Amino acid sequence: MSKQTISPAIILAPGREKALKRQHPWIFSNAISQVISTPNSGDIVDVLSSKGEWLARAAYSPRSQIRARVWTFVQEQAIDAQFFYNTLANAWQLRQRLFDQQSTNAVRLIAGESDGLPGITIDKYADVLVCQLLSAGAEASRKLLLAALIQLFPEHSIYERSDADVRKKEGLEPTTGWLHLPRSDGEVIITEHGMALLVNVINGHKTGFYLDQRANRQAVKRYAKGKTVLNCFSYTGTFAVAALQGGASKVTNIDLSELALATAHRNAQLNHLALSAIEQVKADVFKQLRHYREQGVQFDLVILDPPKFADNKSQLVGACRGYKDINMIAMQLVKPGGLLFTFSCSGLMEDSLFQKVVADAALDAKRHCQFLERLQQDSDHPVLSTFPEGHYLKGLICTLG
Ligand code: SAH
Repeated sequence: MSKQTISPAIILAPGREKALKRQHPWIFSNAISQVISTPNSGDIVDVLSSKGEWLARAAYSPRSQIRARVWTFVQEQAIDAQFFYNTLANAWQLRQRLFDQQSTNAVRLIAGESDGLPGITIDKYADVLVCQLLSAGAEASRKLLLAALIQLFPEHSIYERSDADVRKKEGLEPTTGWLHLPRSDGEVIITEHGMALLVNVINGHKTGFYLDQRANRQAVKRYAKGKTVLNCFSYTGTFAVAALQGGASKVTNIDLSELALATAHRNAQLNHLALSAIEQVKADVFKQLRHYREQGVQFDLVILDPPKFADNKSQLVGACRGYKDINMIAMQLVKPGGLLFTFSCSGLMEDSLFQKVVADAALDAKRHCQFLERLQQDSDHPVLSTFPEGHYLKGLICTLG
C-alpha cells in the first residue's frame, strides 16, 4: 500500500472537505471520521477526504475542538527548517514594505493563521522579539521556529510569552522566558510615528503592547487638537500620548491597573509632554463613567477600547449588552459636536453587529450619531482571504449631536 496508510493521517467525514477545499486552515473534531496511526500532540498529519483525496498537511491537536491546523495545502511542501525560514522571511519582507524604520521599529511579524503559521504570534519591538506558541502544532515546531528566527534576526533577543489561556484548550501548560540573548529586564522603548513608547515584554498584556491600534492612534492624533480627551481602558496611555501630540488640551486616562497608569505617566515624560495636561484615574471604567454622568462632567473626545467581552458564541449576547451599555454612557459624556472613538476587539462580533450595537446605544443615549470613519487593526495584522476570523479589531469614529 502507499505511504499514506502508514504515516499519520486524518480522514474527513463524507462531505466535510468543503472548508478545506476553500483553504480554511482549521479542521474541527466533528469533521473527522478516522484518525490513522495515532499521532501525538503537534504531530504532522496528512488530511484526506472521505474518498482518499489528499487535501492538506496539518498539525494534530488531540485535546482541542480545532483538531488540526493546516501548515500547507501543497502536497510537495515539507514542514521543515526551510519552511519556517521562508515563511518568516516572507512575513518580514511584507512588514518592511509596510513600514520603514522612520515610521516605526515595532511590528507584528507573524499574525498566526494569516501569515501561514497557525497558533503562532510574533511581535518585533526594536531588537526584541516576543513569541507566543498557542497551539499543539506551534509547540511541536518550537525548535525549528526558533532556529529560523535566530537565522533571520541573529542580534535580537527572543522572549516567549506563551501564557495565554487558549493554550489550555490545546492541553499545553503556560510557558514564559528568554529563549535567546536574555536581557536583565523586559523593558523596551519603541518608536512609532514620532512617539517613544514603553513596552514591557515580561509584565505587559499579551506580548506587551497593542500594535494593532497603531493607525488608530494616528486617527486620534488627527482629531485631538484643542480637545479635552477621556481615554477609557487606557493601559499604558498610548492614545493619550497621541492625543497630546495632536494638540489635545487635556487627557484623562482611566484604568484599573496601577502599573499601567504608572507606565502611562512615564510615557508622557518620555515624550516631553506637559504632565499638568494629564489626569490619571485608577478606577473601574463602568463605575467612573456613571460617576461623571452624575456629576455632569463632559469631554470633547472619548475613547473606548475595552478588553474582549466575548470568548465564545455563547457569550455574544451578553457581550452586546455590555458594549451597548458602556457605549451609551460614553456617548452621554461627549459634549454636543464632540467625538467618540469606540472599539471592539471581540472577533466574534462582526462589523455590522458592532455598528448596530453602537447605533442602539445612540438611540438609548438620545444622541444624534453619525459615523465618520471605520477603523480596524493596522496592516501588520493582515487578514488571510481564506481565514476571515483574522479580522478582529473594529472601531467607529462617531460624531455626536
Ligand atoms: N487602549 C489600550 C489597550 C487597552 S487593554 C492601548 O491601545 O494600548 C485593556 C485595558 O483595560 C487594560 O489596561 C486593563 O487593565 C483595563 N481594564 C480592564 N477592565 C477594566 C475596567 N473594568 N475598568 C478599568 N480598566 C479596565
